[in-house]
Amino acid sequence: MEILSYGSSSAGNCTIIAPDIMIDAGVNPRQIPEHILRQVDFCLITHEHGDHTKYIQYIRNKAIDIYATKGTLDKLGIKPDYRFHVIHSQAVLTIKGWKITPFASFHDASEPVNYLLQKDKEKIIFITDTCKAPWVVTGLTQIIIEANHDLDLLDDNLCNRVISGELFSRIMFNHLNISQTMDFLKTNNLSKVKGIYLAHLSKLNSDPKKFVKVIKDLTGIHTKIMEVKK
Ligand SMILES: [Zn+2]
Ligand SMILES: [Zn+2]
Repeated sequence: MEILSYGSSSAGNCTIIAPDIMIDAGVNPRQIPEHILRQVDFCLITHEHGDHTKYIQYIRNKAIDIYATKGTLDKLGIKPDYRFHVIHSQAVLTIKGWKITPFASFHDASEPVNYLLQKDKEKIIFITDTCKAPWVVTGLTQIIIEANHDLDLLDDNLCNRVISGELFSRIMFNHLNISQTMDFLKTNNLSKVKGIYLAHLSKLNSDPKKFVKVIKDLTGIHTKIMEVKK
């Protein structure tokens, strides 16, 4: 199992839990090496926003099964069929030996979900595009979690008119800030966690180096930004 990122921002999101799982289809698959893409068996969608779904039809055409909530598919104008599967929050799926639990997230989308993925000794939580992360999960081994912005930076950028009031509110009420990321990590037992991956950083309102440092200082666990793999 390897966690590969091909995009984790409002410019496009696509994570591969290699070899078989893709999460979100917001990155041009041409940016993913063919041998990696060929092994992907199914794709889990978090919500309908373009940075997570822009290439969903292309992924379908690669004969990859796609799982999304009804709310997400409806918003995209997609009817369920033999490739597009409807999932429900808290309804566990078993695919290719993975036990997958979608759970509702808090975001300005129709029926957004995040995921808990379990196979053998791995228990991976995938959290993105949510304005809170109140979950407590035992036995996690890998944490992929949004660290979208720093509230002070967001405030500064509003004051300096780098961002509009509208964007300020949209970011603040729909995405996780670094303090909330830290709260999630403080609330959960991290004794089995081997890696923490910070996701969906806002280009203007985050400080990647500082974020990695504060999380490492807090947890003592290997932490990295979900950078794009070339
Ligand atoms: Zn997003
Ligand atoms: Zn979104």
